[in-house]
Amino acid sequence: AACGNGKDGKKYTVATDSNFKPFEYLNPKTGELEGFDIDIIKEIAKRAGFEVEFETMDFDGLLAGMQSGRYPIGIAGMSITEKRKESIDFSIPYYDSGMILMVPEDSDIQSIDDVDGKKIGSRQGSTSQTYLKENTSAKVEAFPEIVTAYQDVKEGRLDGALYDLPNVKHYIATEGKNKLKTVGEVLQGESYGIAFSKGSKIVDDANKALQSIIDDGTYAKLYEKYFGE
Ligand code: GLN
Repeated sequence: AACGNGKDGKKYTVATDSNFKPFEYLNPKTGELEGFDIDIIKEIAKRAGFEVEFETMDFDGLLAGMQSGRYPIGIAGMSITEKRKESIDFSIPYYDSGMILMVPEDSDIQSIDDVDGKKIGSRQGSTSQTYLKENTSAKVEAFPEIVTAYQDVKEGRLDGALYDLPNVKHYIATEGKNKLKTVGEVLQGESYGIAFSKGSKIVDDANKALQSIIDDGTYAKLYEKYFGE
């Protein structure tokens, strides 16, 4: 839980997602939490002068926990939206993303225009789930973990899945070669932001630290580490 505000060496709980590769995930060999977001927030904490401890949960719970003020900080490839801004404060954007449709290699679906009446998977609480509901007539199946949807597409139980481009690309590259593909355009450009409880006093210091991480090349090194070929 939060133990204070400001540049005071205090320790803050960071709520994070248990499985959103390569942003945050548990290393299968060591069981350690790692990923792009984890490195970013650790570096921010170092530069802004506070400590962090992590708590993992599924995305839906994380969102609810941030909205209710239960956690001081959350990082989970969370897209900045107007709706979320009503109950969460965000850092400056730190990653440009968007949604992409994943389908089986031999699918007839060519874009989001072809999903009406089809079974399309997503994740509970995500921007993709909202997008599908608001913009298509697909039969949306939303799971606590997005990998469940990906597996169901791979095994033919779903016609497709709509999710964040870097996560979809990572899954196809590691577990879906010659079985899964992306189709159509990247939908709805989104930016990820670090979440803070509404009214948090550490946002300014965190933003300054984040900006310095971007400006001094540390961001580019971390990007290369997690997204480089
Ligand atoms: N970017 C998506 C969202 O904010 C999904 C994030 C995630 O699954 N961790 O809704």
